[in-house]
Amino acid sequence: MSFSSDVKNELTQSISSACCYKAEAFGMLLLGRAFGLSEISLMTEIQSVAERYSASIRDLTGVTPTMQCSKAGNFKISIPNKTDRIKILEFFGYTGKELALRINLANLEQTNNDCCSRAFLRGAFLVCGSVTDPQKDYHIEFSVTKAKLCDDLMQIIDDLGLKAKKIIRNNSYVIYSKEAESVEDFIGTMGANNAFLQVMQTRAIKNIKNQINRRSNFESANMSRSIEAGLKQVSLIEEVLEKISLEDMTEDLSTLCSLRLENPDISLDELGKLVNPPLSRSAVSRRFKKLERIAEELKAK
Ligand SMILES: [Zn+2]
Repeated sequence: MSFSSDVKNELTQSISSACCYKAEAFGMLLLGRAFGLSEISLMTEIQSVAERYSASIRDLTGVTPTMQCSKAGNFKISIPNKTDRIKILEFFGYTGKELALRINLANLEQTNNDCCSRAFLRGAFLVCGSVTDPQKDYHIEFSVTKAKLCDDLMQIIDDLGLKAKKIIRNNSYVIYSKEAESVEDFIGTMGANNAFLQVMQTRAIKNIKNQINRRSNFESANMSRSIEAGLKQVSLIEEVLEKISLEDMTEDLSTLCSLRLENPDISLDELGKLVNPPLSRSAVSRRFKKLERIAEELKAK
């Protein structure tokens, strides 16, 4: 299974509030294969995506889509009946006669910050996105067939503070990023937390390798001690994150954990300086002691 399908499988497990469930469905429909009077459909190789698309349409509009699976393992989901298609279009505020499909922002209620924009992005990624395994390369993209729709999607991505570029390739409008940090941000924003941690770790390890290669032997003797300490903290954090999420921690602890995951190779002094307001070396050390206690308690449970 590819990394891309792992991410998609994880995303289809997202539990969302009513507003976001609608926003995600809207993303899948609008950026799927067709969304109009004559056709509403999706083609996908991933069963969980096909099922999520179908279930969302059924839950929200009461229309049951038709699903077919080809011998090659491709799923096609469609709405054969025109009255049903009109019902779905109207549910999302469309007539099907629009000259150019745009994103109807009324479907993104945003009851909690940008929750619905993130959900919409997740829906879009499920049907027109792909991401390369970070072990090989950093690359995430969304391939859109319509120019205006691509512009609108780019606007949402922009508003979410994500960095991406746009190119035209084989009659498609492609939004992409090749920056490690923004690939990571995309995955986190869409809500694939396991994949997010995986990318973060891969990036941290690559950083360490690069730095070791860059520095002299003399320096690396000193450095390896702080790297060793840093890596121990990273694995402690990971151990805790298997049981609870960053949001479950106190804010000062979760901030420190995020900073450590992003910077596994720096000393406690340097780590303390990244916190706002800065912390002394001993204060950082105390917090990691606290984390160790949490890890012990979680283990005991
Ligand atoms: Zn929402």
